[in-house]
Amino acid sequence: MASIHLKNIVKRFGAFVGVEHMSLDIEDEEFLVLLGPSGCGKTTTMRMIAGLEEPSEGEIVIGGEVVNGVDARDRDVAMVFQGYALYPNMTIYENIRFPLRMRRIPAEEHDRRIRQAADMVELGAFLDRKPGALSGGQRQRAALARAVVRQPQVFLMDEPLSNLDAKLRASMRVQIKHMQRHLKVTTVYVTHDQIEAMTLADRIVIMNRGAIQQVGTPDEIYSDPENTFVAGFIGSPPMNLIEGRAEKGRFTAQGIAAPCPAGLSGAVTLGVRPEDCHVGGDHVQGQVYGVEPTGDVTYLTVAAGGRHIEVKAARGFRSGIDLPIGIGFDTGRLYYFGEDGRRIHDPV
Ligand code: ATP
Repeated sequence: MASIHLKNIVKRFGAFVGVEHMSLDIEDEEFLVLLGPSGCGKTTTMRMIAGLEEPSEGEIVIGGEVVNGVDARDRDVAMVFQGYALYPNMTIYENIRFPLRMRRIPAEEHDRRIRQAADMVELGAFLDRKPGALSGGQRQRAALARAVVRQPQVFLMDEPLSNLDAKLRASMRVQIKHMQRHLKVTTVYVTHDQIEAMTLADRIVIMNRGAIQQVGTPDEIYSDPENTFVAGFIGSPPMNLIEGRAEKGRFTAQGIAAPCPAGLSGAVTLGVRPEDCHVGGDHVQGQVYGVEPTGDVTYLTVAAGGRHIEVKAARGFRSGIDLPIGIGFDTGRLYYFGEDGRRIHDPV
């Protein structure tokens, strides 16, 4: 068990900067999720913690020890990566056993630990098979079992659920979180799926173009986004971001008007989440563009002033398209951002 510290990490690939001056303190026993779009530097960060990639600058400390230059095998980390290979000639049982042999764990403990790890990922009935006789999702779960069978200082997981179908992914999510709480192993988990990040993490690190955008608990990231990138990345559908002008306590854009802090003036962006919009009201005057019932909620898209506003409407809401509609905002939950995209906090 260990804390991890990234101190001013830079990773260059030739002239390209993959990770840019990243500093991060990951607490002992924490479940930390790196979240961001494809190419933002998540995997590179993970590979540097694992020891598969050396930082161009900066220091990595695991469990109080500077690990720059320490071989991946000598860092006490267990990894589950996308497409992480199992040994094809070994049974799943032997694959899961492998790290126990490598670490010279007493043989009498092996069977119990292997079966416990396999049961956790629902592979107890497949231990005699070889990887070639398993589905992609089953192989991914076998790799997960192999990582958890010993108790390392750190778990590193890079999209470990990406090959699973939606139902299995949801159940594995709960199992991984339960397992991590139980084993209390510091975990760094990479995903581009915001639901996975929100549901698993103690804290989320949102990255874009090699740089940290915000670090916070899922509640903080959702309720207090620092900039339009974070605001637009979290939520399903994400926050509506509407460019307009603020003047004398009033925000206006074509087809849209809402209250804003009296001190705001000039070009600003209004942010409002679809769940904080409701049918009826006059903050948006537009036309129905699309109605998508999902059972528990109806997604409504409203066209106003040449843009689309997403609304989570009541489950029973139905409408034909192109009809005029008014939308109200929950005015206690409006966000404002400046021209640089940064959140404007409580202006006076
Ligand atoms: P994804 O979700 O698609 O896996 P990611 O956030 O994990 O994306 P990284 O794999 O960390 O992204 O890559 C970050 C950036 O660094 C990308 O633009 C990538 O093309 C670049 N990059 C990664 N590895 C190398 C390399 N060995 N040589 C050159 N560029 C690289």
